[in-house]
Amino acid sequence: MAWDRTDVVVAEVAAGGCWGTGWTYGSPATARVIDDDLVPTVLGRDAFDPAGTARAMQGRCRKLGRSGVASGAISAVDIAIWDLKAKLLGVPLTRLFGTVRDRVPVYGSGGFTTYDDATTARQLEHWVGEWGMDKVKIKVGESWGRGQGRDLSRVALARRVLGDGPQLFVDANGAYSVKQATALGDRFHGSYGVTWFEEPVSSDDLAGLARVRQACGADVAAGEYGYDVWYFARMIEAGAVDCVQADVTRCGGYTGWLATAALCDAHHLEISGHCAPHLHAPVAAAVVNLRHVEYFHDHHRVDEFLFEGAAAPEGGTLPPGDGSAGHGLALCAGAERFAS
Ligand SMILES: [Mg+2]
Repeated sequence: MAWDRTDVVVAEVAAGGCWGTGWTYGSPATARVIDDDLVPTVLGRDAFDPAGTARAMQGRCRKLGRSGVASGAISAVDIAIWDLKAKLLGVPLTRLFGTVRDRVPVYGSGGFTTYDDATTARQLEHWVGEWGMDKVKIKVGESWGRGQGRDLSRVALARRVLGDGPQLFVDANGAYSVKQATALGDRFHGSYGVTWFEEPVSSDDLAGLARVRQACGADVAAGEYGYDVWYFARMIEAGAVDCVQADVTRCGGYTGWLATAALCDAHHLEISGHCAPHLHAPVAAAVVNLRHVEYFHDHHRVDEFLFEGAAAPEGGTLPPGDGSAGHGLALCAGAERFAS
């Protein structure tokens, strides 16, 4: 799959003379859900009660379908409310959530199948050389699994470029069948030292993920399409993954992500933040069972020109904020020129 645009939907909330900002990456329809369904739910509620507000928003979206677009909308507003709460208290979100680590480990993510070899090599060298990353991820599963020869040659290329040191991850976005993923997983892990096999089969196929997990040396990961904590409970119950991925812009914002992290911890699993690295940073610094956060090429590109305070990685890590109140991220002056 390829895409030529990324939509960002920004939500803002206000109380007591302060503003909070949140966002999600999703359809413009997300904004309509916020305007029509979430504004009436959130207006007048206590800014110090994000969890209660999150539950009220979920209730409001029950009939229109809580997953997908609605959950993106809930996530954007929830993040904005947490940002607002911290600002009302005059503290960074890291004070509110606590910090078990000073900086958040991130891994470089991109390596699209549409790249030629030179572009892939340049990107890998940039992540490792400029940003000090010791783990990187490329896409595989080209043409819904029909390009497995090129998948293997691109993984081989990545390992050649990286040398023996950095960890190499692959993401198939659900393109393979169980048998195909099992066979390829052996090659990826055995021949090229791949340690992370993301969505080897569709994340709708929890039993299939579990079968690949049993057969593969690499850790199996999934969860980017998880829209609530109950989905993650089913995923864990099925034994589908070695590491849960959850996305603050989809899974119910900071409220949903923290609940998911606690659920994982209760099952001796780690959690990884999917994309939106700058939004994940404060909450990723706060949980004991974090593995890492995905530093996604596309979101780096978008965040850099849309939001102030979006720091570039150093030494393979991101700071969980800049010390200012809230999450420390604000829409840039001039961002309106990208508005639709
Ligand atoms: Mg993925």
